[in-house]
Amino acid sequence: MSVRQKALFKIKSIKLEKVDLPRKVSTYFGENIFSSETMSEHISKATFAAFQAWILDGKTITLEQANEIANAMKDWALAKGASYYTHWFQPMTGLTAEKHDSFISFVEPGKVIEKFSGNKLIQGEPDASSFPSGGIRATFEARGYTAWDPSSPAFIIESALGKTLCIPTIFISYHGEALDKKLPLLRSDEALNKSAVALLKLFGHKNTKKVISTCGAEQEYFLIDKNYYNLRQDLIMTGRTLIGAPSPKGQQLEDQYFGTIKERVVNFMFEVAQEAYKLGIPVMTRHNEVAPHQYEFAPIFEESNIAADHNQLLMELMKKIALKHEMVCLLHEKPFAGINGSGKHLNWSLADDQGNNLLNPGQTPEDNLQFLAVLVAVLRAVYLHGDLLRAAVALAGNEHRLGANEAPPAIMSVFLGEQLTDLLDTLEKGVKAKVSKQDIVDLGIARLPKFNKDSTDRNRTSPFAFTGAKFEFRAVGSSQNISTPITIVNTIIAESLDYVAEEIKKTTATGKDFNSAVLKVISAIAKDTKDIRFEGNNYAPEWLKEAKKRGLPNVASTYEALEALTKKENISLFEKYKVFSKEELIARYHIWVHTYNLLLEIEAQTLNEMVNASVVPAGYKYEKLLAGTLDELVRLKKSAGLKINAAALQDKKKHLSEVVSKIYYVRHNAESMVELLSKAKTLSNEKRAQLYFQELKPLMEHIRKHADELEGVVSDDAWDLPKYREMLFIK
Ligand code: ADP
Ligand code: MG
Repeated sequence: MSVRQKALFKIKSIKLEKVDLPRKVSTYFGENIFSSETMSEHISKATFAAFQAWILDGKTITLEQANEIANAMKDWALAKGASYYTHWFQPMTGLTAEKHDSFISFVEPGKVIEKFSGNKLIQGEPDASSFPSGGIRATFEARGYTAWDPSSPAFIIESALGKTLCIPTIFISYHGEALDKKLPLLRSDEALNKSAVALLKLFGHKNTKKVISTCGAEQEYFLIDKNYYNLRQDLIMTGRTLIGAPSPKGQQLEDQYFGTIKERVVNFMFEVAQEAYKLGIPVMTRHNEVAPHQYEFAPIFEESNIAADHNQLLMELMKKIALKHEMVCLLHEKPFAGINGSGKHLNWSLADDQGNNLLNPGQTPEDNLQFLAVLVAVLRAVYLHGDLLRAAVALAGNEHRLGANEAPPAIMSVFLGEQLTDLLDTLEKGVKAKVSKQDIVDLGIARLPKFNKDSTDRNRTSPFAFTGAKFEFRAVGSSQNISTPITIVNTIIAESLDYVAEEIKKTTATGKDFNSAVLKVISAIAKDTKDIRFEGNNYAPEWLKEAKKRGLPNVASTYEALEALTKKENISLFEKYKVFSKEELIARYHIWVHTYNLLLEIEAQTLNEMVNASVVPAGYKYEKLLAGTLDELVRLKKSAGLKINAAALQDKKKHLSEVVSKIYYVRHNAESMVELLSKAKTLSNEKRAQLYFQELKPLMEHIRKHADELEGVVSDDAWDLPKYREMLFIK
């Protein structure tokens, strides 16, 4: 029996103790977060007021006030059983980072007390020289500093033997440059806020002080049994299978999507949700996805900054809890070839402090003009900055999805649904110089329906779709930290909102009444950006041709997509909105190209070991079996006059030759791959990424093809690598 077959017998659900009456969620939701409500109960009124002024208006608090908050936070955490604290941050690796410190402090030799000061709350200094910085920090000042982000509440993470207080922070260099994914997000929210508030003022909303972006990230993932995972070094090293023959049954019967969730998986989902609720993460929906063993969690939307933290935490919880259930949670964009990969649909909208969603049509013609003004601002942003949106989702894992015929293609387009398309098509033809109230009624703007899911969400193939009261950016990868995509969306839309406001002002300055001016601007933008709208099937080959005709870029490779970050006009855009300095942006470009290269090198080296240490030896075993039996047959034919069908003998010889050849191809191509890797060592990062995309990846696919063919013939008990049909179908 192969180790793989032995693993089969270990596959089982863990025995869970039945809990008869699970606690009502409302009784414990958010119990592990130091929310502002909890804070207000633990500190003086004056300090709390100062804290709120900090959050709302950016007025910094005093050290005494910070001390008071730190002390309250510590007491709260100790009362909950925490013994350590950490500044929790999001470096450019895309993961989260933490460095734990105990609360203890000496009062005299040998005697400690628990202490936590305002200084330690506000600023930390991890030994940060090993985080990617893209050259922002020279090595002599290699330190990065974490600084408290008061807009995201501190929380407690529980593990079996203790609890840790986690304080969300930003991560900056000595000179204040962003070394993380969080600070740019906060800056982009500020930019968006300014632009949106200014536009709303034009529409007469004098009392609106704040507009934020809101976000709900639908998280797709796979679960596979731990026993299989442990036998697949590709999953362990790279998060995806580098070889593996397709299973006869894949997703073609479409019997997985929204199917009954297996008990084993549903138990996992219950536990994830429970832990998420304690942290105030509003996990809402759970269901089976399209591919076998693929699932999704969707939260209720929140303000982007919090949603980004929550998504990072949710991914951590999912990975941790899966292990407890003897499974592994795969967040990679493409763990298995031939079946769907995983994305993270980023639902995005704008909300003002009066409780309005700016992408919701309203009750009056004026409200609806405003709605259309925001809508065309989004269209214009995607039209002008498709390259940045593409860069926002450029990573090695996503390269297998975008343009790989099963996820949104690498062409950025917007889906609006029939009603809005009709309306914009009409407007596009131009509007009268003077627009009366009756004209607005005639155009169908006076009463717009609420665009609910049913009327808009029929197109699942669009990378940027209006799905009723929000846009859904579907090209985001499942493993991604959503901070960067949100940062980019926020910035390009801030710029577009400014443009709309400016155009309206210019037009009213010519003496036009406000409504006519707005309609004129909307109609002009609808016309100018028409090419970005596409209502058809984005996966169809005709769209590729059509998009090309329209001049829309289709960038398949990560390194080319990332080049958008180095373009002059893009650097100016981010500098203008104070989201990234030129240096910060270029640093990100370098880090992300470099990361791409590192990931591909890990993949190639893993593949090399797998084929040489596992596939080829299994092939040899089978080769020996074939050669041995062939030899015996030929001998028996001679010595005992055994009658052998000539065609059968020929077939056996042919099969043996084929196996010998396949093994040779695998070895030969693996050798070329090693040569290619060593040749790459002397190249610049850009050239290396290009070589990997153009040559290494096809070579790896080639090796895979032959290895997968071997998998299909080598005797089952000689094959040690868990097969697709097992990993994806055994419950
Ligand atoms: P779908 O459109 O994918 O069928 P839903 O309408 O249930 O599903 O919403 C999907 C996600 O969109 C949820 O996470 C939800 O919280 C989020 N969402 C809904 N409204 C908004 C909004 N105004 N801003 C941001 N996200 C939103
Ligand atoms: Mg969705």
